Amino acid sequence: MSRIIAPSSQQHRYGDQQKSQEVKTVSELHRQTYGLATDPLTQFACVFAALIHDVDHPGVPNAQLVKEEAKIARHYKGKSVAEQNSLDLAYGLLMESDYELLRATLCANETELRRFRHLVVNSVMATDIVDKNLKAARDARWDRAFSESAEADSWENSNRKATIVIEHLIQASDVSHTLQHWQVYRKWNERLFMEMYTAFKEGRAENDPSVNWYEGEMGFFDYYIIPLAKKLRDCGVFGVSCDEMLDYATNNREEWEAQGQEVVEYMITAYEAEQKRKSEAIRAKEMRLKPAAPESTFQIGENVVTKTSVTEALGSLMMKVQQMEMAEQQFTG
Ligand SMILES: [Zn+2]
Repeated sequence: MSRIIAPSSQQHRYGDQQKSQEVKTVSELHRQTYGLATDPLTQFACVFAALIHDVDHPGVPNAQLVKEEAKIARHYKGKSVAEQNSLDLAYGLLMESDYELLRATLCANETELRRFRHLVVNSVMATDIVDKNLKAARDARWDRAFSESAEADSWENSNRKATIVIEHLIQASDVSHTLQHWQVYRKWNERLFMEMYTAFKEGRAENDPSVNWYEGEMGFFDYYIIPLAKKLRDCGVFGVSCDEMLDYATNNREEWEAQGQEVVEYMITAYEAEQKRKSEAIRAKEMRLKPAAPESTFQIGENVVTKTSVTEALGSLMMKVQQMEMAEQQFTG
């Protein structure tokens, strides 16, 4: 968040002018970032939301949880199921008595705590990018806040801008692998592929993700990632870091276009190899743990015996015979 600084306001002056210049810089910063750069509670809420927004994620999309009639799907009436679950778990934890001191450090009073909760709820809910109604509402808010006709400096509009910028900020953090170096993008894209391919193989997805993964990523870059990076650049809050994000996104899109199909082939092979390794490990463990097969039994007269019991009986009989022989030798000798 320290980079939420428009580069033009980072000038330093010396001498008598310094103090008044500092005040001016802070208020300028406050104005340019709609209060985000000068509000520690908002900044912490963003970091906290990013940290907890996927707590207890079940590894399948919300639609699948609804279809499976999962407990949490019923609890949240099918709306942003995973997001609400993460939020309730993490926020509930923060409200436990163990964290009273932390809460008091974060928020001075009830009003601040309410504002903190509001920010966290809004941010985590913004990571549900599939829900059509939520998405439409967010897009409308963005247009209203940043349209030409929006009253530039009204308090209400500044507030609206702050809210909508935070929503897009957390969305960018949720897909931050696409906005970083190709190797970072590859690593996390592969993990997502494995998660979704596993779900499919386990019968928890209708469509095989490997079939359309290449095209899906292309569409994701063109219709979601690159427009998102452009929006963040255009809102003017993040200074130069936005050019960086947009550059990486454009670059990753190009790399994916050229190599994506090969990458998908590789990921499928890697999945199969991992499955083979896992099932072999399970088999080896089973062999080690398997109890010895029970011995077959047979009947001698009225007795049910096994090979071991007969061998033992024979052994003790032989001992008896030897003892008797020794005693006989003593007696005759
Ligand atoms: Zn996430």
